[in-house]
Amino acid sequence: MSVALVGAGPGDPDLLTIKAARLLAAADVVVHDALVGDGVLALIPESAERIDVGKRPGRPASQELISALLVELGRQGKRVVRLKGGDPFVFGRGGEEALALREAGLEFEVVPGITSSIAAPAAAGIPVTHRSVSAAFTVVTGHRRPGEPNIDWRSLAKVGGTIVILMGVAHRAAIAAELIIGGLATDTPVAAIQRATTDQQEVVRCDLADLGSAGIESPATIVIGAVAAFDLTAFDLTAAGTLRATQSQQVIAAT
Ligand code: SAH
Repeated sequence: MSVALVGAGPGDPDLLTIKAARLLAAADVVVHDALVGDGVLALIPESAERIDVGKRPGRPASQELISALLVELGRQGKRVVRLKGGDPFVFGRGGEEALALREAGLEFEVVPGITSSIAAPAAAGIPVTHRSVSAAFTVVTGHRRPGEPNIDWRSLAKVGGTIVILMGVAHRAAIAAELIIGGLATDTPVAAIQRATTDQQEVVRCDLADLGSAGIESPATIVIGAVAAFDLTAFDLTAAGTLRATQSQQVIAAT
């Protein structure tokens, strides 16, 4: 397969899939985004050409140009890895690149990655579903481009379960206001996980009413709902030992 659209996971290179690591090691050229973690980029072999097409403020890379570049490299018969943060098909515009490759008659494959919509909450000790607390999670973008469909936040407030917002930092005040109008309680727990799974990870926790004024920096994943109050990272060995002992006692008692 000459072109692979590969998910790089949320940042930590240990969260790459084995397939992603294998394709990277054999790549002739790697075309990557701004959000791919440094630890993952460090795995690109010296011999491979590295092309950064990251869209950054003041330097927007056109999606058409990226697709055209992939087609061009694919036609050269190179082993091309198109490396995208998280999963390539979750707000990664991987679908558009796949379409461009197909239209050009090129073979390609898609390698899923661990999406930040699940990995970022997990890194803060938040399970996106939890028995008797949240039976669903909705992953939604907080960023809209002109011409794209509107998110009906007021209806989303009525769906129940956990709301996970990607690219939501800039519009977080307006989003929170809409969700509250839609019926979510002002004290609904919120957690924003910045640069999850990297050594710069920071977690900001607040109520929905305070989301607009909370200091949150992009890239961040915002989790809204009862599970956002959880922090299952707290790992004290003594406590864990006690918990395990209690659990095994319960198991013994139950059998
Ligand atoms: N395809 C990616 C999402 C691309 S949209 C995926 O599946 O994860 C980019 C958004 O993803 C960011 O604005 C942010 O909301 C989220 N994101 C990506 N990496 C992140 C990280 N390390 N920590 C927290 N959020 C992250």
